[in-house]
Amino acid sequence: MTSKIVTGKPSFLKQMNRNIIIKLVFQHEKISRAQIAKLTNLKLPSVMRLVDGLIEDGIIVDIGKGDSSGGRRPNLITLKQDAMYIIGVEIAIKTTIILTDLVGHVIDKWQSEELLESTPEFILSQVHDKINGLLNSHHLKPDQVAGIGIGTPGTNFKYVKEIEYSILKGWESIDIKGWFEERSKINIFVDNVARTRTLAELWFGHGKTITDFIYVFVDQGVGCGIVHNNKIFEGHHKVAGEFGHTIISLDGKPCYCGSQGCLEMYVSAGAVTHDIKEDYPEVVSFSEAIQCAPQSEVLVESGRILGIGISNLINIHNPKTIILGGIVPMSSDVFTKSVIQSVEANIFSRYAEKTPVILGSVEQEGIGSIALVINHIFESEI
Ligand SMILES: [Zn+2]
Repeated sequence: MTSKIVTGKPSFLKQMNRNIIIKLVFQHEKISRAQIAKLTNLKLPSVMRLVDGLIEDGIIVDIGKGDSSGGRRPNLITLKQDAMYIIGVEIAIKTTIILTDLVGHVIDKWQSEELLESTPEFILSQVHDKINGLLNSHHLKPDQVAGIGIGTPGTNFKYVKEIEYSILKGWESIDIKGWFEERSKINIFVDNVARTRTLAELWFGHGKTITDFIYVFVDQGVGCGIVHNNKIFEGHHKVAGEFGHTIISLDGKPCYCGSQGCLEMYVSAGAVTHDIKEDYPEVVSFSEAIQCAPQSEVLVESGRILGIGISNLINIHNPKTIILGGIVPMSSDVFTKSVIQSVEANIFSRYAEKTPVILGSVEQEGIGSIALVINHIFESEI
């Protein structure tokens, strides 16, 4: 891990350095003060002072002696799991709400039925009621909850053509944050699901050991999150990662965004289902399509196309690793294998040729929205 001492106004500096410590404790689960000093280049007395402050605030606890690597056995610290609670909401074909402790252990979960025809207003009201129900049943007051994270299909996109059905329908102009802030005293954080899933990997998954990666989400929608030096890249207008609407075929299939040949039109769960249906008309959902035709050429071809898109990402960003997540790679080895072959075949640089493409490790619905809250409250430079 690279370490960085933060300079700036003293109070801000203290806050940032506190957050650097919290992030390290998060990544290591148990760690000694001396180890923190070594990893951050902070002086040991400063680390001890900051840790004392975090213990006083009830965020960190001492858990006694760890194993020795020769000298005295060090005192270890860890996060106090019940210091705060977090609510994570993920809006997809099904809506999921989870309540977790500070380290992401799920305490309770609610999931809707597949609500294909629901309006955004109906879904938001339902989520609001269910969150209140969860808080009441666990006797939690708003000030015990660090935040509500909401992963959405996306907002503020240009929506040109009406399509029969999409989970995006109606969300293009909704101010989700404002909607909840009018009705709740809890901090609200909103981002699209591709980016919340990226944060899940960053805080709970491969991000514990990999500091530079791109998470590629291939589900009903397609998007990505770019992590550089342990931080997600947001972009100037905070809309970086719209990988699904990069154009992969000139004058290709029309997309609901108004463009033609967008990657999402060839590799999303909906696109794959649509193409498999040509041979298996009885198929309705993506899972049925995969069950009926697990070896389908459609999966091989979609994987090849996604691999070309990913090799473009690698050529531009040179990440250490590509992490694949979402329902399509998670349910089809045939697809994933084809992606990997295509990536290898299409990368320009010999150095980047062997960039590993691996599967996501935290594919639980809602956990990305928990990571979104954690990422905001414990934001730091490492
Ligand atoms: Zn598009």
